[in-house]
Amino acid sequence: MTPSAATQHMVTRFAPSPTGRLHVGHGWSALMAHDMTRAGMGTFRLRIEDIDGTRSRPEHVEAIVEDLNWLGIEWDGNIIFQSRRLDRYDAALERLRGEGLLYPCFCTRADIQASMTAPHGPEGPVYPGTCRALADAERSRRMAAGEPHAWRLDVAAAVARTGALRWNALPFPFDASAEPRTVLAAPAVHGDVVLARKDAPASYHLSCTLDDAAMEVSHVLRGDDLRGATDIHRLLQALLGLPSPAYIHHPLLVGADGRRLAKRDGSIALAELRESGVNPAALAEALRAGRFPVGIRTASA
Ligand code: GLU
Repeated sequence: MTPSAATQHMVTRFAPSPTGRLHVGHGWSALMAHDMTRAGMGTFRLRIEDIDGTRSRPEHVEAIVEDLNWLGIEWDGNIIFQSRRLDRYDAALERLRGEGLLYPCFCTRADIQASMTAPHGPEGPVYPGTCRALADAERSRRMAAGEPHAWRLDVAAAVARTGALRWNALPFPFDASAEPRTVLAAPAVHGDVVLARKDAPASYHLSCTLDDAAMEVSHVLRGDDLRGATDIHRLLQALLGLPSPAYIHHPLLVGADGRRLAKRDGSIALAELRESGVNPAALAEALRAGRFPVGIRTASA
């Protein structure tokens, strides 16, 4: 991939989950993804990751649209709603199941907590594979009894199939002329990730990977907290024969207490700034220049 070709065909996206109000960090991330395509005449899409029926709320979707409009961010084409794409996630699950790469996991949250003697991965405890070890007869009996279950990817089997994988990383801040660097993916350290949840028809990993490919996303810009997710998405791309975009991971924003900004911290919600009379054009300009409201800084600074 030459950088000029990448710029010509650039498609980026902002993909919020409608589980709360957007904060300054979301606004910053969305502006950067948006601006990457404006500079290179690319396409910037908005995708609403609303497959989590218990936490996603229509009023948050409206609020996201309102907040982005307020900041002056416009997207190309229609908004993509993941909740309307469940058949595609199902088809991929069916395919992976048919290839023997998934297994049903009946563990409850409490079971998993209790069995967490396994080593922790970079993002916390790794599922110890309890249900991978179930005998076929036991598995069939529990399935036939209709016991609630998630579907997990047998990561070791998957990696044995794909071999070592690398993903293309571009530096942050984004530089259209930079050559991508390849990063060795390490999906195994995250354990057997869930691809279909008990309470949701797909997981973030599956829906995000499929949709980035379906939307022909060429560049994914997202937070440093999702580097591990990128390893998993690279594995899913290889298993499902999907192209792999270039990834740019940006630092997370932290508050005065050094803690990551979160949707629960209402004080730095974009809506809060709007209500307190902040000028959106000035805010967008400041964010673009890496200047954040008082008390907020990048985690690495
Ligand atoms: N819905 C995810 C989030 O809000 C999106 C992550 C991504 O950009 O892949 O964190």
